[in-house]
Amino acid sequence: MCNTYNFVDSNLDYTILEDKTATGKKRDWRGKKMKSSLISAHYEALEKRTGSPYFLKKAEKVCDCAEYLVFKRDRKTGKLKLAQAYFCKVRLCPMCAWRRSLKIASHNKLIVEEANRQYKPAWIFLTLTVKNVEGDDLKQTITDMMEGFRKLFQYKKVKTGTLGFFRALEITKNHEENTYHPHFHVLIPVKRNYFGKSYIKQAEWTSFWKRAMKLDYTPIVHVQRVKGKKNIDAEAIEQEVRKEMEEQKAILEISKYPVKDTDVIRGNEVTEENLDTVYYLDGALSARRLIGYGGILKEIHKELNLTDA
Ligand SMILES: [Zn+2]
Repeated sequence: MCNTYNFVDSNLDYTILEDKTATGKKRDWRGKKMKSSLISAHYEALEKRTGSPYFLKKAEKVCDCAEYLVFKRDRKTGKLKLAQAYFCKVRLCPMCAWRRSLKIASHNKLIVEEANRQYKPAWIFLTLTVKNVEGDDLKQTITDMMEGFRKLFQYKKVKTGTLGFFRALEITKNHEENTYHPHFHVLIPVKRNYFGKSYIKQAEWTSFWKRAMKLDYTPIVHVQRVKGKKNIDAEAIEQEVRKEMEEQKAILEISKYPVKDTDVIRGNEVTEENLDTVYYLDGALSARRLIGYGGILKEIHKELNLTDA
C-alpha cells in the first residue's frame, strides 16, 4: 500500500520546506503527493480486480513519484532549487499533471507573446464537444475526435481565416449518469481579416465540426473572441481561457493547461466508481497527446526550442 504520509518521525531533526511562487503563493507539494498516493491505491486495486500486472506496475510508478526531492542551495541567491527528483509521468498522476500544467502554461505564455510580436493576430477560443459517452466508448470517441480535429483544420474556410491553434483535450464526468464528456478547448490566432470577410459564424463552426466528426446530431460548439484591450497579452488570454473553462463547470479534469487542477477521482477513498473512472481514463488517455499545436503556434513552439510537456 502506498504511503500516505500521515506521520512524521519525531526522532528526526528536520525543517519543512516551503515552495513559493514569485507572487508568494505556496506550492502544494504535499497535497499533490497525497493525491498521487490515492491514485496509486486505485491502480493497485485495479490489479486485484483485473489480475493484470499492468496496473501493479502503474501503482508502483505513481507511488514512487516525487518520493524524494533533492534541493540545492543557489550560491548567489541563497534560494533552494529542485536539483534531483523522480517523476513517474503517468498520465493520471496528479503530481505529474500539476507539473505538466505549470509547464504548458509557461510555454503558452511565451508562445502567445511571440505570436503577438510577429503576427499581431486576434484570438478566438473554441470549444468542441460531442455527446457524453459510456466508459467503454471513451477511447474510440477520443480517437475519432483527434481525426475530426485534423479534418476541421483542413477545411478551406478554416484554413483561410486562422493562423494556427493550441488544442487541449479535457474529459469531464457526469457522476449521476456515469458518463464521460470529452471535449477540446482550442485557442486560435486568427488573421486580421477574420472579423471581416473570413468570419466563421458559430453555426458554421458547428456544422464544420459535425461534418468532420460525421455526427448524426448537432454538437454543442462554443466560440468567442478573446477580449482584452487593444494589445492582447498572454495574461489576458490566460485569464479569459481560465474563466471560460471554469464556466464549463468541469467536475473532473485531467491533462492540463492553464486551469486549476481538479481531482480525477472523488473523495479520499478507493471506491467502485473511482475504480471505473481510473480504469476508463487510463485506457483512453495513455500514450495519447492531450495537447497539440498547429500553424504559427507550432512553428513558434519549435523556434523557442520548447521541450514536450
Ligand atoms: Zn507522477
